[in-house]
Amino acid sequence: LRPYVAVCGGAGYIGSHVVRELLASGDFNIVVVDSLIKGHRAALDGLPVALEIGDVRDAVFLEGVFSRYHIVAVIHLCAFIEAGESMTDPLKFYHNNVYGGIILSQTMMKFGVKRLIFSSTAAIFGNPPNDQPISESTPKVPVNAYGNTKLTLEEMFRWCDGAHGMKTIALRYFNAAGAHPNGTVGEAHEPESHLIPLILQVALGKRSQIKIFGTDYPTADGTCIRDYIHVMDLASAHLAALRYLMRPETAESPITSDCFNLGTGTPRHAAHTMGRGSPLGVTGQGFSVRQVIEVARRVTGHPIPVQEVARRPGDPALLVASSEKARRVLGWQPRHTLESIVETAWRWHSSPSYARFLADHQ
Ligand code: NAD
Repeated sequence: LRPYVAVCGGAGYIGSHVVRELLASGDFNIVVVDSLIKGHRAALDGLPVALEIGDVRDAVFLEGVFSRYHIVAVIHLCAFIEAGESMTDPLKFYHNNVYGGIILSQTMMKFGVKRLIFSSTAAIFGNPPNDQPISESTPKVPVNAYGNTKLTLEEMFRWCDGAHGMKTIALRYFNAAGAHPNGTVGEAHEPESHLIPLILQVALGKRSQIKIFGTDYPTADGTCIRDYIHVMDLASAHLAALRYLMRPETAESPITSDCFNLGTGTPRHAAHTMGRGSPLGVTGQGFSVRQVIEVARRVTGHPIPVQEVARRPGDPALLVASSEKARRVLGWQPRHTLESIVETAWRWHSSPSYARFLADHQ
């Protein structure tokens, strides 16, 4: 039997880029497991992967998949991701994200599969203090149910390692953005809540302006700063994590569970911004809302009108990751700039495939 990596949620935004990165490496056979509740079948068009359509909460379905393929590792991206909705309907999020994680882990244990890469998020940190970048050991205090479902699973996987030797790498993505450079696949969430696609919808004439929530934050231009990471850089981090988890185990180099923050920030950022009385984020680590809009204006040639409104409750001024640990341990290196993020996203949003993806769910 050929060994397979199961990419659960592989028809979604990040998953479909991860699948392409693994295929490009030539090292893995892939079975995508996805209910298509949010993902797009078209995201896998023409790719040499198996697709099993079903819900990871369905143990009978999942056991069927594990029986048919010799799965040696799992990448688990399935989740509901709308933080706002998680506050009005938390049980929907616990049911999908936490219960789904439990059924998947039980099935993995049943079939002796003990290598897992888990999609976690910056949301586990809640509103961290301003002495950033955020390291792996920054206190985790989620401020929404979505973030708490992810933290709950990270903790559950730790116990599963202790009890069953299940090795998990939790990758905590900051703001995923951008699209595949060939323009065939990209972000198509419905509803859309992420800043860059919303800005590009203005350039496409789908909305008249972009709202800036809060212009009085203690940052250089008064708007919030976030750490935008290109989806292809996230994809390459999954490949690095998979190789790390799948390497031959020796006494000197045991396979251990671990977690990594994935953004583009580096510790240099802290040295420049902490305790100096300077505005946050002035060193170019992380980007403010206004900076992102400015880049989008350059890339699209559209004026992108803005409407300045009050802060949204719960939005921290600054969220920038230290990715030092991922660079050091996984040998990973983010390669894309904000320009490249916006350029690839714009190419994708202007392509006919984007409209086709959105039509999927209408
Ligand atoms: P997405 O909605 O595009 O992808 C999720 C995929 O999982 C979809 O294809 C969906 O159909 C599938 N899915 C959901 N529940 C399922 C279930 N029970 N069974 C089978 N399939 C199911 O979202 P995304 O932006 O690609 O996010 C992927 C993962 O990354 C999520 O776990 C999310 O929490 C995490 N994450 C995303 C971001 C971001 O900026 N997009 C940031 C941090 C973390």
